[in-house]
Amino acid sequence: MNSIFNRLLNVKNMVVEDARIVDSPLRPVPVLEIRVRPRKGMLRCSRCGRRRRGYDRGGGVRRWRHQDFGCWRVELVAMMPRVDCPEYGVVIARVPWAEPGSRFTRDFESECAWLMTVANQKTVSGFLHVAWRTAGDIAHRVAERLKASMPSPFDGLTAIGVDETSYRKGHTYLTVVVDHERHRVIWAHDGYGKDVFDLFFRPLTDEQKKSIRVVTGDGGRAGSTHASPSTARTRSACSTASTSSPG
Ligand SMILES: [Zn+2]
Repeated sequence: MNSIFNRLLNVKNMVVEDARIVDSPLRPVPVLEIRVRPRKGMLRCSRCGRRRRGYDRGGGVRRWRHQDFGCWRVELVAMMPRVDCPEYGVVIARVPWAEPGSRFTRDFESECAWLMTVANQKTVSGFLHVAWRTAGDIAHRVAERLKASMPSPFDGLTAIGVDETSYRKGHTYLTVVVDHERHRVIWAHDGYGKDVFDLFFRPLTDEQKKSIRVVTGDGGRAGSTHASPSTARTRSACSTASTSSPG
């Protein structure tokens, strides 16, 4: 039976130990309680996220709300292992099914965040039985998670182009940086000139800067000219592009 729950829950590095139904007058609805644990050797520090040696299971018992199973409320229950981290000392391990500090599983959070985009407050709270404020915290965590899992548009750049475009009849300028290889805009900022273009490089890591081999701009001095339909409207970005070495 545990292997069925393992497959149903489908969380990597999590082992189902036991499952039972708890129908107590102390709880508003019957709960399907699933006891789980992180797979051995896969323990990570909840503070730094690095893989660490297990210390003990002394972190206490915790519960995480999971997606309902039919009419049953589902909760994962685990004895929290602790790890010995050289940096943070003995701390609670990160669990593979939830974010640190969250009382919900990642699957529950994803469902909740999705529902919030297609349904109103009353529906989300009523359907999932969570307070709207809690749903807001959940959506925030899901957004952070998505952001962290998406590759940065500044990774692996080799050739970029900078265009200074004017709009509102030439009264307002916009500096736009494009990734020539992946054909997409990766950055934009109000204004023009070297100071504005320098802002593009500021958040880049050394590695990200180093990979950029070619910087093109309107005018050609910086290398091959980026001929785009907007060229006619762009100011000369050539001096900007050639003087701002990405190093
Ligand atoms: Zn750590």
